Amino acid sequence: MTDYILKPIAQEELIVRIAVLLENRHLLLENQNQRQRLHDEELLRRDSKFESLFAHSIEGMVVGEWINDQGSDKDYRILKANAAFLHHVQLSQNQVCGKLTRDIAGWPFHELTGLFDQVVTEGIPRKIEFSVSGGSAVYQVRAFVLQELSFAFVIENITQRKIEEDELRIAAAAFESQEGIIVMDPKGVIQRVNRSFCRITGFTAHEVVGLTLEFMKSDRHAPLFYRRILRALHRRHMWQGEIWVRYKNAVHAPLVVEITAVQGKHGEVSHYLMLFHDISERKESEDKIYALAFFDQLTGLPNRILFQDRLQEAMLVGAAQKTHTGLFLIDLDHFRTLNDTLGHGAGDQLLKQMAERLVACAGETHVVARLGGDEFIVMMPDLSPHAEEAGEQVRKQARVLQTVLSQPYVLDAQAHHFTSSMGVTLFKDVPTGIEALLKQAELAMYKAKAEGRHGISYFDDAMEVELNRRVAMEHALQQALQDGQFVLHYQAQLEAFQVIGVEALIRWQHPEWGLVGPATFIPLAEETGLIVPLGHWVMMTACQQLQQWSQDSRFKHLTVAVNVSARQFHQPDFVDSVLGLLQKFMIAPGRLKLELTESLLVHDVASVITTMTTLKQQGVNFSLDDFGTGYSSLSYLKRLPLHQLKIDQSFVRDIMVDANDAAIAKTIIALAQSLGLDVIAEGVETREQQEFLRQWGCYRCQGFYFSRALPQAEFESYAKTLMV
Ligand code: C2E
Ligand code: MG
Ligand code: MG
Repeated sequence: MTDYILKPIAQEELIVRIAVLLENRHLLLENQNQRQRLHDEELLRRDSKFESLFAHSIEGMVVGEWINDQGSDKDYRILKANAAFLHHVQLSQNQVCGKLTRDIAGWPFHELTGLFDQVVTEGIPRKIEFSVSGGSAVYQVRAFVLQELSFAFVIENITQRKIEEDELRIAAAAFESQEGIIVMDPKGVIQRVNRSFCRITGFTAHEVVGLTLEFMKSDRHAPLFYRRILRALHRRHMWQGEIWVRYKNAVHAPLVVEITAVQGKHGEVSHYLMLFHDISERKESEDKIYALAFFDQLTGLPNRILFQDRLQEAMLVGAAQKTHTGLFLIDLDHFRTLNDTLGHGAGDQLLKQMAERLVACAGETHVVARLGGDEFIVMMPDLSPHAEEAGEQVRKQARVLQTVLSQPYVLDAQAHHFTSSMGVTLFKDVPTGIEALLKQAELAMYKAKAEGRHGISYFDDAMEVELNRRVAMEHALQQALQDGQFVLHYQAQLEAFQVIGVEALIRWQHPEWGLVGPATFIPLAEETGLIVPLGHWVMMTACQQLQQWSQDSRFKHLTVAVNVSARQFHQPDFVDSVLGLLQKFMIAPGRLKLELTESLLVHDVASVITTMTTLKQQGVNFSLDDFGTGYSSLSYLKRLPLHQLKIDQSFVRDIMVDANDAAIAKTIIALAQSLGLDVIAEGVETREQQEFLRQWGCYRCQGFYFSRALPQAEFESYAKTLMV
């Protein structure tokens, strides 16, 4: 109320007043309208800003409202969705806007209703992460209230970020692996190290960050080595290999290292990554294996394999420099007797002391090795290029070695004297190879032994001739095996003038040399190993013969004795090969007799007994050949599954004239009887010898008195003459 009208009404006043009132009213409305307009304009401005923001945001945005129609379940309706959102979910405006969330197909809106509930009821903004399509896409959703019942949410695809986060986590875990890791800048300045680095090297991260690797350098590598690494990094952006480093406690250790350059987008190096692990243990076991393979365990000297290697090297150097090299092969005299009398412990002590003495008097460039058993070798390189001078040097050294080795040895607190034999050879240019060189030294050494031991023998031309002869013989033997130049002769074994069996004796029917006896080639065949195929051939031929005789009533009772060499007997497949032949030729095993010599009983008697027992169980018999000449202990004799002792021909020869031989023969017969063994004499050449043996209880004989070893047909005719 701004005015009032008084009675009586004055018309002019009334009109003026009304006009003023109307004017006021008009102004008021005008003002109101103006305010409304301004407000509307402001709203419009704001709305369009929001709209624009909404429309152009790269984040997906959605506006929705809560619906609570009577009767129906509470749900949310999507009012608007921006282009970014529709792009995310791969749906169109029509498929989303105006729809209830439960009705929208193609994107799991319903999974968000929990979030909307919270936001709408609590009025506080919230965010969640949720994944679709089995985790292949991950979203972050942030929802907030707009007005009372409407709300908006912003959605962001964070799949890539998640992957990167995972990668970072994995990288962080990997960084703390068992491998030591160093991260360096392009200048090699350490930026980070992992815990394994600290554990392995003993340095703390604090101590090393900011430094270059200089402080870990070991003096085991020349500067060139590090330059090579840098070059490799420069060229190939990586290097890997073994490297020695120094730890904090000053210990030097070997590492296996891999250094890789980390490159930026444009190929520039941003970091160097060094991964490593300590291989001290592996190195140690490698060293151990090396020591086992190349060094003699008793004396610590190089073994044969390593020596051959050094010899090969010396040969090349010698050939290039035209200098001579001397080889001294040393073999202790009567080592076996020492072992037998003083025991193996004393034998070992002696070998060790010999090794020490040899090493002590060897020069820096000399190589001392143990080739096996009691055999040592010394190699002396860098001798004069002139043969005579070198020869003098070698003779001097040989005398020194001989003197040193012949000083008394203290074994178990007692002084003992031992002698050794030495074979020496000298070489400069050898096209023949190391085997031939070792053979030369060996031959010289055997000559020293043959000349009464405790001597020195030098390989010379005569020996060269002998050596060449042996080499030629070896080839010829091989050829003979291939060409079938061997034959078996059969020498009768008799009892009461009846042939009860034969001994198969090998002969070599050489196309030029004629019939060669086994004494000429068996030792060489044994040395070279040819005895194995040769022995197999003998065994097979004897079995073939047994089979043939088994079909002839006149001969089917015969046994065949086959000589077996130690080397052949020790073949792992010996038992199988014998049993195989027996089976193949369908022979009663009792017809086969294997003649072994006492030399077989020197090594590994236990395994000899096992092999014999296996064959014996199958029915094969054993005879101990040349009995009395070798070394058999009575205790062994008792343990061997023998069938027969064979008195050696050396006792039989002089049995009638030499009382000792007669006594030995009688003793062997008595021994056989007391052990329950059969006994046979070989080399019986006269009726008197046979008579003597028979008188003392040896009824079985073999010898020229009855028959020599004969070819099969001749033997058969001879045997027939004795049949009545
Ligand atoms: P061994 O086994 O002791 O053979 C007996 C040797 O004495 C044979 O010599 C034989 O001919 C010879 N002999 C036989 N009776 C008399 C005699 O009354 N007076 C004389 N002075 N000698 C007689 P052989 O055939 O020269 O064989 C020599 C050795 O060669 C054999 O000695 C044996 O150790 C070996 N040997 C022969 N054949 C083979 C074989 O097939 N394998 C193997 N590993 N060694 C064989
Ligand atoms: Mg024999
Ligand atoms: Mg014999």
